[in-house]
Formats: sequence, C-alpha cells, structure tokens
Amino acid sequence: MSDTEDRLVNPTPKPDDKVDRAMRPNSLTEMIGQEQIKENLAILIEASKKRKESLDHVLFYGPPGLGKTTLAHILANEMGVNIKITAGPAIERQGDLAAILTNLREGDILFIDEIHRLGRAVEEVLYPAMEDFALDIIIGKGPSARSIRLKLPHFSIIGATTRLALVTAPLRARFGAVYRLDYYNLDATKAIVKRAASKLEIPFDEDGIEEIASRARGTPRVALRLLRRVRDFAQVRADGSLTAKVSKDALKLLSVDHLGLDDMDRRVLRAIIEKYNAGPVGLNTIAASVSEEADTIMDVVEPYLLQLGFLERTSQGRMATKSACDHLGLPYPKENESPRLF
Ligand code: ADP
Repeated sequence: MSDTEDRLVNPTPKPDDKVDRAMRPNSLTEMIGQEQIKENLAILIEASKKRKESLDHVLFYGPPGLGKTTLAHILANEMGVNIKITAGPAIERQGDLAAILTNLREGDILFIDEIHRLGRAVEEVLYPAMEDFALDIIIGKGPSARSIRLKLPHFSIIGATTRLALVTAPLRARFGAVYRLDYYNLDATKAIVKRAASKLEIPFDEDGIEEIASRARGTPRVALRLLRRVRDFAQVRADGSLTAKVSKDALKLLSVDHLGLDDMDRRVLRAIIEKYNAGPVGLNTIAASVSEEADTIMDVVEPYLLQLGFLERTSQGRMATKSACDHLGLPYPKENESPRLF
C-alpha cells in the first residue's frame, strides 16, 4: 500500500470503511447537506412516480467521499427498485455490459462508479441502451454478419465520476440530469459526525465533535474515518468520551492539523514552495518530487488545497499561495517579486 492509500484523510474508500455502510442515510430526508441536489432529486423522483416511468439517467460528479454512491442507494430506496453496482474498469468487454443489462428488471437502477473509465467499445453499447432501451448484437462475421436488436427493460443508469472532463460528450449527453456534489460546510459535517457518534453510541460533547468536523475537509468519508480513529484513542487513552481535548490530542497524534491537512498535503505544498519557488510547476514534476502518482495528487490532494486557496492552477502549472506559506510557517518566496505581467 502506498503512502497515499494509507492516508487517514484520503477520501477514497478503504476496507475498514465498510462499517460506515450501516450508517448510510437511506432516504433524502435522512441525508444531511447537499440541499439543492436533494431538492432536485425529490422532484425527479416524484415526477417519475407520477408518470409511472423509470427514473431518468442521472450523473453525479465531484471529489470522492461526498456521497455519490449514497445518493444512488437513496434513489433506489425512494423509487422502490433494485440497484446493481458496478464500476467502469470492471466492465472490460461489450459482452460484460450486455450480460449486466439483460439481467436488469423494469425500473432497476444500474450504478456505474468511475464511469469515465469505461472503454470506448463498451460505451458504444451503452448509447442505444440508454436512449432506446435496446441492445444491438452483431451475429456472425464478415459479409454475412448482421445486427439484431434486443429490447431491454426500462432501467436507469446512475453514473458517478470524480472527473467530469473525462466523460465523453456523447455519454454525458445521454444523462437527463447531471449534478455536482460539493464539499460540506462545517455545520453539515458536524451534523454527520454527531449522527454517526450517536449511532455508534459514543459519548461526546459539542466541542469534541467540532474538532473532528473542522478537520474532515468537508468530506463525510473522512469525517467518519477520523471519528473512528478518535474513538479508538478515547477508549485507550481516556474514558471513552469525545471531548475537545481528546479529539485534539488524537488528531495531533494522527498528524492531521487544524485545517485537516496531513503529511501528504504538507509534502506537496512544501515541494512546490521550497523546491520550485512556489511555482508555477507541472503536476508530473510535483508527483515525481514527492514520489506519488500524478493522478492521485490530482484526485485526492489538489481539490482540497484548491478549495482552501492554498493552491492555484495556472496555464503554466501549479502555484502555492501566500496563505499556504503562512499556514506552513514558511516565507513566501515571491514576496519581493514585482507583479507578473500577463
Ligand atoms: P462517493 O461515492 O462520493 O465516494 P459515498 O457515497 O461512498 O461517497 O460516501 C462516503 C461515506 O460517507 C459513506 O460511508 C456514507 O455513509 C457517508 N456519507 C456520504 N454522504 C453523507 C451524508 N450526506 N450524510 C451522512 N453520511 C454520508
């Protein structure tokens, strides 16, 4: 396992996150935050129910750990239909997708995570399936080959991606609704941590919850993971309850600072500031200097640093900002530079 996978604040799923599934909200009303999306989805659900039609195809995008899979489950629950889960890289051949599609029943939801990673050929099977609920199968080879069209039940695809830009235009156009999930604000994150602490029967006080929520990078998956680690600490080093002191001490030991940055974030920022004079520097160069994959940095490190205003993406590369330097206690290398002329 690489350093990045091991990170506590890495928002991509880890095996021990399974416990969280029991805590997944089951309905739109139970789900905290993402108000606008919930309102839109409520209308979508009601309209489909009124027309007795399957749900429109829906695409969710945004950083990992914000609730895309959760929303897909909620949609299935609210519509009272089955949900099948798969992911872009798992569907290797056209036949794999055909098998999945022909096994769906009327109204079912097929959730495709990482939909931007579907192969081109597989995607082509998906177009008529999404548009006309039809599967075109080629029988035979060469001049005698012919195509037959199989009818599919009316199903709904729910796609999820962390990279909307990598979803091809024809695929994107086949989704009736596209929603972007955003980081949660502090109040919503606190409510999520509190709900989970109550479900896990962990005694807590408001300040203890706030300490965890404020370091969770606005990401429920990270919030729940921090909560579990702080609970361990509270049970081993204290009397089991989450107070501000217990949370603070636990998170210090875990190297997560008060903004939720961990060693990996700090290494990336330090590299840009100290080795490259705060930038601009290319993503691949940064990745090489911290020995990580460029994709990982782009998906799991950068979005939060951009959101904090610690990083800027320019056409020449990434730049660390003055606030990043202030946060790390480093001098801002560009302090005495004259403003750049564009
Ligand atoms: P994604 O698919 O975007 O990576 P998930 O839907 O798997 O994210 O959510 C990650 C974890 O966070 C899940 O364990 C889920 O229970 C929890 N979670 C996500 N959104 C919420 C929310 N709004 N309220 C409570 N828990 C949430």
